[in-house]
Amino acid sequence: MNWFKKIADRIIDWQSPGLQLRYVDELPEMVTDKVIYIVGEMNFPWLLAFKCPCGCQNLIQLNLLKDAEPCWRFKIDKKKKINIYPSVWRINGCKSHFFIRKSKIQWARF
Ligand SMILES: [Zn+2]
Repeated sequence: MNWFKKIADRIIDWQSPGLQLRYVDELPEMVTDKVIYIVGEMNFPWLLAFKCPCGCQNLIQLNLLKDAEPCWRFKIDKKKKINIYPSVWRINGCKSHFFIRKSKIQWARF
């Protein structure tokens, strides 16, 4: 990667607001790109859903209920940025593996 591309990537990253958050009672039929849907009641969300960031158009749904496996947790910080734990690793389809930190996708590298 040359220096120009490095700087350009950094500027794009800095400008991008990251993923938006939307609280919904039910998952809408049409989901918008770059939006994380927090499904359920405000104090009791049970699902996170968003389109796969790789561009494959698949809907990723993360269960938040502790009595079902697998289960994810999320935190929203003071700046309203979301962090999701653990990482998302699709076992089928595109097999994307990434983290969501501060409302941004961080691709896992191996
Ligand atoms: Zn994908």
